Amino acid sequence: MLGCCNMKLLPKEFEVIKIENKWQKKWEEMGVYRFDWEDKTRPTFSIDTPPPYPSGEFHMGNVLNWAYFDMAARYKRMKGYNVHFPQGWDCHGLSIEVQVEKEHRIRKREIPPDKFRKLCEELIEKYIAMMKEGVIRLGCSVDWTTEYRTMDPDYWRRTQLSFIILCDKGFIYQGTHPVNWCPRCETAIADAEVDYEECEGTLHYIRFPLENSHESLLIATTRPEFIPACVAVAVNPTDDRFKNYIGRKIIVPIVNRTVEIIPDEHVDPSFGTGVVMICTYGDKEDVKTVIVHKLPVIMILTDNGKINENGGKYAGLAIGEAKKAIVEDLKATELLEKTERIQQEIGVCDRCGTPVEILERKQWFMKTLILTDKVEKMANEVVWYPDYMKTRLIDWARSLDWDWVISRQRMFGTPIPAWYCKDCGETILAKEEWVPIDPKLEKPRIDKCPRCGGREFIPEQDIFDTWMDSSITCAVHAGWPDREDWRRLFPADLHPSGIDIIRTWAYYLMVRHLALFDEKPYKSCLINGMVLGSDGRKMSKSLKNYVAAPDVLNKYGTDAARQWAAGGGATGSDIPFRWPDVEYGRRFLTKLWNASRFVSNQLKDYEAIEKCESQVLDRWILSKAESLTQKVAEAMEKCQFNIALEEIRNFTWHQFCDQYIEAVKDRLYEPKRYGKEKRKAVQFTLYKVLYRIIQLLAPITPHITEEIYQAMYAEDVGQKSLHLTPLPEPDMRKIDEEAEKKGDLVMTVITEIRREKAEKRKPLNTPIKRVKIYAGNSEFADILGENKEDIVGTCKILGIEILPEKGEGRKVQGNPQISFLSEYHP
Ligand SMILES: [Zn+2]
Ligand SMILES: [Zn+2]
Repeated sequence: MLGCCNMKLLPKEFEVIKIENKWQKKWEEMGVYRFDWEDKTRPTFSIDTPPPYPSGEFHMGNVLNWAYFDMAARYKRMKGYNVHFPQGWDCHGLSIEVQVEKEHRIRKREIPPDKFRKLCEELIEKYIAMMKEGVIRLGCSVDWTTEYRTMDPDYWRRTQLSFIILCDKGFIYQGTHPVNWCPRCETAIADAEVDYEECEGTLHYIRFPLENSHESLLIATTRPEFIPACVAVAVNPTDDRFKNYIGRKIIVPIVNRTVEIIPDEHVDPSFGTGVVMICTYGDKEDVKTVIVHKLPVIMILTDNGKINENGGKYAGLAIGEAKKAIVEDLKATELLEKTERIQQEIGVCDRCGTPVEILERKQWFMKTLILTDKVEKMANEVVWYPDYMKTRLIDWARSLDWDWVISRQRMFGTPIPAWYCKDCGETILAKEEWVPIDPKLEKPRIDKCPRCGGREFIPEQDIFDTWMDSSITCAVHAGWPDREDWRRLFPADLHPSGIDIIRTWAYYLMVRHLALFDEKPYKSCLINGMVLGSDGRKMSKSLKNYVAAPDVLNKYGTDAARQWAAGGGATGSDIPFRWPDVEYGRRFLTKLWNASRFVSNQLKDYEAIEKCESQVLDRWILSKAESLTQKVAEAMEKCQFNIALEEIRNFTWHQFCDQYIEAVKDRLYEPKRYGKEKRKAVQFTLYKVLYRIIQLLAPITPHITEEIYQAMYAEDVGQKSLHLTPLPEPDMRKIDEEAEKKGDLVMTVITEIRREKAEKRKPLNTPIKRVKIYAGNSEFADILGENKEDIVGTCKILGIEILPEKGEGRKVQGNPQISFLSEYHP
């Protein structure tokens, strides 16, 4: 860093939004954030950016997510890493289909599939554009040459290829199993797509007569509509009230079938009457009971949630209608004893909120349960920020009852590359070299069925669960399967994600990559919490505590909003959105700007020097800047952005601006009194310390720091962007403990004298006639004596006396053994 005639003065006003937009555009033009595939010298750092579902907006939750991703990326880049920060868009999925159906007021089956798909593509493109604008507006250092869409056939190719490999490895099977089913979306959904809601329900007490007896048992159920699907009645074998009934037959009302009373230890004797009906399927417990007791299955629901022919006279009714009709019929036959309101938890589709049913359908599954032990082992190997998040992944994996159902009965998704022989039903799977392929549009590339020689094939109609697309990103980002050197970026160094999607994103990534490559997909996992409204509840439009991101960014600017994201709370914790946090961030930027402007002004005549006559206070702030560098590095390495920001803001605002700059102004303004060399020492110090501040701050507030850098440092440093300059390693040798100790002492005295002046309501430049300092001991007296010039200059003292003894007067905060008496002109 030589020469300083290149320094430009900063203007008084700084137009935050203009500066931010300018750099967002220029960074892209300059290619500042490109990953360099040719560079083999710098270590790489790969970020597995989760491709989001574009929802048509960029909300404060997104601001928090991407701010985290970007702070980690920028920090590593300045630490000398060749950072790979890709960005893709996860396009497929129920949410877009539901949205298209809503916007166009259609149901998917009412228009041809290709037309429906086209509507989905158009809508998602609109959403992507809006979300991309948000990511850019947030100043994210994404390498846009990596941009991809999971709906592009080139991406399908990867999804389909990974599926074929998993089939070969024995991880995929087809089977008729109970699955979670959304009757509105008419598709199977995975456990991870089921949300649980508290709601009020009705418990119906229904009399079931025992066969060949006048006795009956009372059964309490919230789902009387499932009576036609009742296949057994169960009691707990330890429940003395019902022990004697086990093995007897009981008559199911309405349908008048007899079923057996079976013992099942999962029956809770304290719920309802202690007797339960087992239906196929009222809930997941029923599924387990049916398997254990090898009970028959009577499916009574159609795909769209109506009663089928097995429901007898209720066939054709919707679930709710059937419930009403059956309750009426029970009343008529006097089998309904009573009803009670109860609080219950029901599973609903996370895309549309419809209560989820359990249906048996032929589906494709991935064997995930067999990987649970490995998932736990790998979760323990991964570094989690914060550490306690790993139990969320392990607990989720351990809680799963079923393998992952990967097929969906929808339209907008990656096609499952399979066909069935029309004659014998044999499944024909696509070969690796056929993909991407849509079996609905193309025939399998074989002449005849390998089993029966048949020549006609029926395409698989189902598509993949969208998580099949997005759970291979760690490999895809690294260049798999096209780049030979993809392992260079695999496993990803960092997978950043939200706390709400650990059970999906972190989990599916883990099982997919373990199954495909027998390797964990990411080395570390950075988790952000949720954004809460100012009322402490999760931010949501329906709760009226919602703040739109553009309102925040346009009012105070991105760098202020990013300070809220960095400083709002500990990493991983939920972070309330508070306007005052953003306002404080903006005030800090103003403080930094004004200080930088002052420095640029004072350095007009500065010539770079290697050595200077540095004084205690110069060495004090330089050493403090080194200590700060160390603290920030420690925090950033652990992704503790709030700690890093707090340290930098405190240092900048208080030690640099309020203390150091104030204490050296006199030396700058009065070179004749102090000598030119001492003024140069201040210039040297200001130049160095401000540069360190903007470097440390750059990952958090990238725009304003770039603006300062370009005006004051770019030509000297020779890097086209601040974000490509190397952050110095913390250097313990540069920490000058003696200077820090002495400087702290001098600063407490200066601060106290100025505080007294302020309390006396006198302007800070008011001269003080005389100050008598009682240092308390000779060591302190020597230190203060050594720095008399700066004390006198800063406080405008005309006559000073420093005594080693203890004495009277105003005590100095932080050093109460020191006191002083001051005398002002009347
Ligand atoms: Zn649904
Ligand atoms: Zn065949």
